[in-house]
Amino acid sequence: MGAGDTWGEILAPQALDLALLTAFIALTLVSFFRKSVRLKYAALVAAVGYMGFMKSSLVSISDVFRFADLSLPPFKYSLAWYVFSVFVVVSTVLWGRLYCGRVCAFGALTQLIDAIVPAKLRVELPRRFEQRAAWAKYVVLAAVLVYFAATRDVALPVRYAEPFWMFGLFGTTAMWAGLAALLVATVFVRNLYCRFLCPVGATLGILSGLTIFRIKRWSECRTCKICEKTCEWGAIRGPEIVKRECVRCDDCERLYLDQQKCPHWIVLRRKGKMFVSA
Ligand code: SF4
Ligand code: SF4
Repeated sequence: MGAGDTWGEILAPQALDLALLTAFIALTLVSFFRKSVRLKYAALVAAVGYMGFMKSSLVSISDVFRFADLSLPPFKYSLAWYVFSVFVVVSTVLWGRLYCGRVCAFGALTQLIDAIVPAKLRVELPRRFEQRAAWAKYVVLAAVLVYFAATRDVALPVRYAEPFWMFGLFGTTAMWAGLAALLVATVFVRNLYCRFLCPVGATLGILSGLTIFRIKRWSECRTCKICEKTCEWGAIRGPEIVKRECVRCDDCERLYLDQQKCPHWIVLRRKGKMFVSA
């Protein structure tokens, strides 16, 4: 394509890609705002199938390098890349790591694995260990940024600091063996890579730490530990939501409104104040 191409000529080959991406983003947002479990799983399946295996479009550490370097692709011919990038940045600023919770194909894959693995196989890590281990991904991020600044090499971090290449079905035997080990470990420790190792998750965690989103909490949350135990991401510490770790999975928000499980409502019922509004 040359500089004289009309917008019609530029858009035609990208139209289907843009339409499917828009539909996927719409599904993601509807599932998030409706707090629907079914739609969330539909979004996770679409993330793996469409964003992962069909489109191979995940935010990669190479995109972080691109932004750091300001070496962005040509706008007119990469419209889907810009739409997706704007969506990821804006949604993170507004609502936190929505990307990690239901858009990233690898995170979606591990959440789907988690949904079918029997709960008795899971290893519950000690809270203090979990909180400390969550910092490891920021160390990985710092290491790959320093490596890139020193060498300008993108290939090594893309191959060994993240498993997203799997959706393009390329990789050496060593890379596939490492991925298999990671997925087996994920059966026992939920969301292992996302919580402890992913430099993209760390980048979005830093970004979401700057946002103003707020997850509603009751005064009872200071002492009740139900949500803290429910959160698979280690993002609840007592009354506090740790924004950089929260992926907006909706689990605590559904519990918050659950009049059968949340002690807030049970206390209200006992006091005979069932109709006091939140
Ligand atoms: S932490 Fe990384 S792998 Fe996990 S969902 Fe987020 S970007 Fe994807
Ligand atoms: S349970 Fe709540 S705090 Fe934990 S990740 Fe989900 S939305 Fe965030």
